[in-house]
Amino acid sequence: MAVIIDGKSVAEQVRSEIRERTLLLKEGRGIQPGLAVVLVGDDPASRIYVRGKKAACEQAGFLSRELIFPAELKESDLLGVISELNNDDRIHGILVQLPLPKHLDSDRIVESIEPRKDVDGFHPWNVGKLFSGTAYHMSCTPLGIIELLDRYHIGIEGKEAVIVGRSAIVGKPLAMMLLSRHATVTVCHTRTRELAEVTRRADILVAAAGQPEMIRGSMVKEGAVVIDVGINRSPEGKLLGDVAFREVEPLASHITPVPGGVGPMTIAMLMVNTFNAANRL
Ligand code: NDP
Repeated sequence: MAVIIDGKSVAEQVRSEIRERTLLLKEGRGIQPGLAVVLVGDDPASRIYVRGKKAACEQAGFLSRELIFPAELKESDLLGVISELNNDDRIHGILVQLPLPKHLDSDRIVESIEPRKDVDGFHPWNVGKLFSGTAYHMSCTPLGIIELLDRYHIGIEGKEAVIVGRSAIVGKPLAMMLLSRHATVTVCHTRTRELAEVTRRADILVAAAGQPEMIRGSMVKEGAVVIDVGINRSPEGKLLGDVAFREVEPLASHITPVPGGVGPMTIAMLMVNTFNAANRL
C-alpha cells in the first residue's frame, strides 16, 4: 500500500504559510504582494483558472488585478498593457494566461514581461537562470512537485528520476530542478524506445504526457515514488491522470492521486513566487 501524497492539504498548508508571511511583510515593510492576471478571449478552462488565481490572491492577502480582454485584442495593445504592469510598483507578479488566441505571438508576449515579475517562470531569462543553476522564478507545476517531495521527506539526491514528457512548462524545467537536487535524470518522450524499460529504472517516476492512464503497473519498479501530473478527461467526463492508479498504487511507495495531487500545488507555488517577488524588493 502506497502513501497517498495529499497535494490538496500540502497546497493549503503552503497557502496558509504565505498568508501569514504576507501579514508580516505588510506590517514590517508596508509591502503588499500584487499579482496581475491577464486573460485574452473567453476560453472556459482559462476563465476557471483565472478565477482560481484571483481567489487564491484574495485568500493570501495579496492585491489582485484581473485584466480580461476580448479575443480580438491587438498584439500592440497587449504589449502596451504589459508595459504598464511592468512599470506599476504595486504589481510584483504578472501572469498572461496561456494559450493566447492564434494571432498573438505567445513568445513575444512572454518575453515582454519584466523577468523579475514573470512569476510563471516562462521568460527565457528565468529559464536560463534555472538551467545555469541560479534560478529566480521557477515554473509553478514542477516547483510544486519538488515541494511535495520535500514535504513528504522523499530524498532526491542520488535517485534515478524518470520524467515522461518534455514540455517547456513541466518536463524540461522539472528535469533541471531534479538535476540541481542531484538526481540522475532521464527525460522520455514520444520517440523514446522501450519506454517501459526506462520507466522501470525509476526511483522517482513523473508522468507528464497528457495520456490517460498510460503508465501501467508493468512500467513501475516496486517501491517507486510515482508523481502523476496528467489531467485528462475520459469520454464519460471523468478526470483521469497519466497513471493507471489502481494498478500502480500497490507497487509504489508513494503516489499522487488525480485529482488532489499535483494539481492544487500549481496555484500554491504561484502564490509563493509572487510573495518572493515582493519580498525580494
Ligand atoms: P504537452 O502536450 O506539452 O507535452 C506532453 C509531453 O509528453 C511531450 O513531450 C510528448 O512527447 C510526451 N508524450 C506524449 N505522449 C507520450 C507517449 N505515449 N510516450 C512518451 N511520451 C509521450 O503537455 P504538458 O506538459 O503541457 O502537460 C502534460 C499533462 O500535464 C497534461 O495532461 C496536462 O493537462 C497536465 N498539466 C497539469 C498541470 C497541473 O497539474 N497544474 C499543469 C500543466 C500540465 P513529444 O515531445 O515527443 O511530443
